[in-house]
Amino acid sequence: MIKVTKFGGSSVANAEQFKKVKGIIDSDPARKFIVTSACGKESHEDHKITDLLYLCEAHIRYGVSADPIFDLITAKYMNIKNELGLSIDMEYEITRIRSQLSYGMSQDYLVSRGEYLTARCLAEYLNADFVDAADVIIFRYDGEIDMERTHDLILEKCANSKRVVIPGFYGAMPNGSIRVMSRGGSDITGSVIANVLNADVYENWTDVSGFMVADPRIIKNPLRIPRITYAELRGMSYMGANVLHDDAVFPVKSKNIPINIRNTNEPDNPGTMIMNDCSEMDAKEPPHVLTGITGRKDYSVITVVKSHSSTEVGFLKKILEIFEEYHVSIESVPVTVDTFSVIVQTRAVESCIYEIIGRIKKVIQPDDLKVEEHLALIAIVGRAMKSVPGISGRLLSEFGRNQINIKVINQSSDELSIVVGVDNRDFEKAIRCIYDKFVRSEEKKA
Ligand code: ASP
Repeated sequence: MIKVTKFGGSSVANAEQFKKVKGIIDSDPARKFIVTSACGKESHEDHKITDLLYLCEAHIRYGVSADPIFDLITAKYMNIKNELGLSIDMEYEITRIRSQLSYGMSQDYLVSRGEYLTARCLAEYLNADFVDAADVIIFRYDGEIDMERTHDLILEKCANSKRVVIPGFYGAMPNGSIRVMSRGGSDITGSVIANVLNADVYENWTDVSGFMVADPRIIKNPLRIPRITYAELRGMSYMGANVLHDDAVFPVKSKNIPINIRNTNEPDNPGTMIMNDCSEMDAKEPPHVLTGITGRKDYSVITVVKSHSSTEVGFLKKILEIFEEYHVSIESVPVTVDTFSVIVQTRAVESCIYEIIGRIKKVIQPDDLKVEEHLALIAIVGRAMKSVPGISGRLLSEFGRNQINIKVINQSSDELSIVVGVDNRDFEKAIRCIYDKFVRSEEKKA
């Protein structure tokens, strides 16, 4: 059994957290390949090391001393070293980084040092080998990971280790210079390593016990989602349930490796399993009708009415091209006879809505054109909905009973999700109502 185990920033925020990580690693010999983020926030007022490193770089770029910020970074690592009794020569490591702080230094090199130092400390504390990500994660010049070289190097440098710690978030360009990934990129490092090693599971340890059926800020103590498919996760994440970097999914999904989201502060909680196919486990323990409810406020609907347009070939394309011209990504396009609506995030069109309207008027010459704001979209996702007739009917009547006006409704053809649009003001009420009807009531029956 091989587990690739990635710890996020909050899991390694201080010496206390390092101890929890050790407990987790020691409790399972399969956890041999460990990836870490840089130290995250210890408390609300604290700062992530990566943020501080970016801030240092910005100070230097504008000719302001970065010393006070760099001192915070130094203090964090000195504390970890001292509290855990590590022998790493931190003064030397810090001096080496500090000596590079000058105008024109590589920003990527500087911000990668958070992961580097955290991994060095963790490797020593866990009695593991340290393998630098720059020696195993290799980018091509186009910025994509060179999977062939990365594969060979990971096998060469890590596969035979008893236990190894690798920093997340960065790798090296073909010329050896450091390159960082986008924010949250340690998730990708873990996923790539799990792919190469054909891991049985990719564990992603963070500060929540997996995904919840609904947002705990709206629903008190929502149920945990024990299992979710990658397809369902897409349906949830496009609405904002972001625990995992989007690009971390592909490397493991392509090899059918499940991701297990776990909580470092609650290690006995099994968290959420994300898999290609949950059917085997569903057969043993049938899932709820709804896997999750998620949503986001502040969408705008641009509605274009033009008679006989629904039979005109290419009509919709003309409208969509206008949005493309302004680089606005479209959330959904509900269509009825001669009426086309385009739903977009309000902030995406804030600066260009009048230009877009002008262009539509010129190109389409519509009979009517309306822009409505303050729309909230709610996605109800569930692989088990397919086999249950009447879900949308129950949903509509529940909204009716609670005086919630549905402005848009859209069911995906794979029956995996239903998206409803309501007024921003009804957002929380609608989520509560769905949760009570489909989750709470099932709980009571059980
Ligand atoms: N430390 C980096 C960040 O804060 C990468 C990561 O945590 O995955 O974005």
